[in-house]
Amino acid sequence: MKRGLSLSGIPVSPGVAVGKAVLWFSREDTAPKRSLEKADIAREVERFRAGAEAAAREMETTAEQVAIRLGPEYAAIFQAHALFLRDRAYLAPIERRIEAESVNAEWAVAAATESFAARMRDLPDEHIALRAADLRDVGVILRRHLGEGGDAPVKMEDLEGESLILVADELTPSDAVKIPRDRVVGFLSERGGKTSHASIIARSFGIPAVVAIPRLLACVADGDLLIIDGREGVVWREPSEDVLALFRERQEQEATQERTLKAKSTGKTVETLDGEAIFVRANIELVSEVRDVLDYGADGVGLFRSEFIYLSSEGEEFPDEKTQFAIYEQTVRELAPRPVVIRTYDLGGKKGARTIVGAEEINPVLGLRGVRLCFKKPEMFRTQLRALLKAAPSGELRILIPMVSGVEEIRRVRAMLEEERDALRQDRFEIPDVPLGAMIEVPSAAITVDMLLPDVDFLALGTNDLIQYTLAVDRANETVSELFCPHHPAILRLVARVAEAARKADKPVSVCGEMAADPIFFLVLVGLGIREFSMGPRSVPVLKEFARSISSAEAAKIARAALSLSTPEEVAALLNREAHNLLVAAGARSRSGEGPG
Ligand code: PEP
Ligand code: MG
Repeated sequence: MKRGLSLSGIPVSPGVAVGKAVLWFSREDTAPKRSLEKADIAREVERFRAGAEAAAREMETTAEQVAIRLGPEYAAIFQAHALFLRDRAYLAPIERRIEAESVNAEWAVAAATESFAARMRDLPDEHIALRAADLRDVGVILRRHLGEGGDAPVKMEDLEGESLILVADELTPSDAVKIPRDRVVGFLSERGGKTSHASIIARSFGIPAVVAIPRLLACVADGDLLIIDGREGVVWREPSEDVLALFRERQEQEATQERTLKAKSTGKTVETLDGEAIFVRANIELVSEVRDVLDYGADGVGLFRSEFIYLSSEGEEFPDEKTQFAIYEQTVRELAPRPVVIRTYDLGGKKGARTIVGAEEINPVLGLRGVRLCFKKPEMFRTQLRALLKAAPSGELRILIPMVSGVEEIRRVRAMLEEERDALRQDRFEIPDVPLGAMIEVPSAAITVDMLLPDVDFLALGTNDLIQYTLAVDRANETVSELFCPHHPAILRLVARVAEAARKADKPVSVCGEMAADPIFFLVLVGLGIREFSMGPRSVPVLKEFARSISSAEAAKIARAALSLSTPEEVAALLNREAHNLLVAAGARSRSGEGPG
């Protein structure tokens, strides 16, 4: 391999990391995808044919053995598998995919099998529809014969060594949350976006990461020495000594800067130059992050993504009431008297969809996700509500509901919550009234926010999903990442609408989507009337410092100007200009010794 190659992608988690590459193949939903050079395609098709032939022979041998041991009706299953593995109607589309998309055989098998199985399932003939599951099995056997993943580790916990950099096609949320923080110093992926959950977790864990790097898996091999520049989105493979020394120096500088800002972020609420109180809370996924919330001086937790309790656990069972209670109780107790907003399970979508929903969804992000899934699984939901209610006496707990699309869903949740609370009180538990809030992340909820407000105690704007659903841009799809614009006029209008309605109803509203952690967007959000924010713990000190340096009246003027513009480009130009002016003004203030600097 050549030395000194550099690759670039979307920077999603800042910082510099130096380490050894470990190719990571998720076993969850898809096969690893690798792009091939044109010259390697014919060899890949040959490898695929040999794998299919070996798999077919294995099925025939299995059929013979099963016929003797269990009888011919059982053997028929494996004979049918062997027939599939020799059927050109199944094999030819896979070969075409390898050739047309220049991809590895494992990926082509997984993708072609999935679309074949989906078509079979939709056929009116029930017998054929049921064979779709058999075909999936054939796909798995075939991938095994292709030696998918080689010797790559299967579980995150099995990763060995230190200073590792994960290199993946895409990191699923459940892989990301299991990253061993003592061994992994960074991650890179071919797919993904800034607000994919893996990227959010990288920021929470303080692990530098770059995603959407074209041809990453074709260019990096296991054991390569890598440098990640998580601010610029650049990766160096096998760097020279000089480059390495340069980045080691930058690593030192960034660590010093972080220490300075952290020392100023003491957990006290900050005020803008004109005296408006601003609350900066933390988003967390795991109870182990409570230490970070305190360390980085956050004003409590604005979003605890509780689904990661399930996603980080082994096995497919939901954590029982006792396990959940212990986690919620510890979190609220250790952070008291700071508020802790715990969001009920937001599963489905890209988070564990197939296993939990129990069916393949063509478009899971628009499917059974969040509160909709909770209604389909009332026992799972009620168990969580009980665990939350029991934890409430230990601190300042608030319950937040994800993916709300209208007031009827909040009413239904409140009724369930009250039933569980009454039952617990009858069992002599002392349960206080717990504030209930709705995430505003589905456009219908933002549009009808005035109708929702009488039924909630607070709101949390989930701008990651609000942008995704309003602009019809998949937040994790790198091919449309340029269109994922927090500063789109439609988003600014929706935020303004929600902030204004909440102000009139005198109910708190926070922003807990990723845009809150970007100073330029933070500025416009303050201008639109937002006073409560929540973000990855490590961003808290920077944004607290920034909040001290702005005036809310100035921010309101900027927001008004932004609302009058019609394209994201115009808004971006305005905000960049204003941010530049602010930096100049802050510099002048600090030189004259006045105000924060
Ligand atoms: C959001 O959608 O903005 C949000 C905070 O929730 P999540 O990122 O977990 O979907
Ligand atoms: Mg969301």
